Amino acid sequence: MESCCELGAILNKEKDRVLFESDNFFIAPTIGPMGIEGYLLIISKKCYSGLGQIPENQYNELEGLITMARGIIKDNYNQDIQIFEHGPRVCGFKGGSCLDHAHLHIVPGANVVDEIAVDLMYRLDDKNLFYRVDRVEGFQRSAEIKQKGISSYFMVEAPDKRRMFVEVNFFIPSQYIRQMIAMQNSINEWDWKKFPQRNILQKTIDKLQGKFS
Ligand SMILES: [Zn+2]
Ligand SMILES: [Zn+2]
Repeated sequence: MESCCELGAILNKEKDRVLFESDNFFIAPTIGPMGIEGYLLIISKKCYSGLGQIPENQYNELEGLITMARGIIKDNYNQDIQIFEHGPRVCGFKGGSCLDHAHLHIVPGANVVDEIAVDLMYRLDDKNLFYRVDRVEGFQRSAEIKQKGISSYFMVEAPDKRRMFVEVNFFIPSQYIRQMIAMQNSINEWDWKKFPQRNILQKTIDKLQGKFS
């Protein structure tokens, strides 16, 4: 099968690390878990550029997978989760994306909402830069920003389930939220390409294999 993109190619090659499959999504441990066992991705089967491109009729399915993952992480690691998406590139704005194929990060024990709040304000180092944070339910806001096509966004959900979409009209570094989590935990190995940490990925598989259904 031909691969849609870099993430698609990894999925094709590593089907055996998929822990669960629904009609439109896979759940698999991430490559480059930064020392965090249980770090998962929910990945769209189709090559959508991000949440903003996922059809509305798949929102319920995705919410169901998040709820399932939250429960399984709680049962197996006794931890709450941080959820985020590094948004896609829109009109030349790079939304801090690691890969332009829709995927949500599910990270046990992380919470960098405060750090992001502080960091964003410092990024307004030029006139006319802005960000806008909306506290939302669902994923509709990502589609709105995507359709407007003039800015980018990322999504972050706190462990207490507050979901926020952040629209930005400026450059956000690659793997932005991963870098924040790494900084908080004094980890240097945030770049998944340089530090795939397959031993930890395998531990996640060993622990969670067969727990999704
Ligand atoms: Zn793809
Ligand atoms: Zn990502």
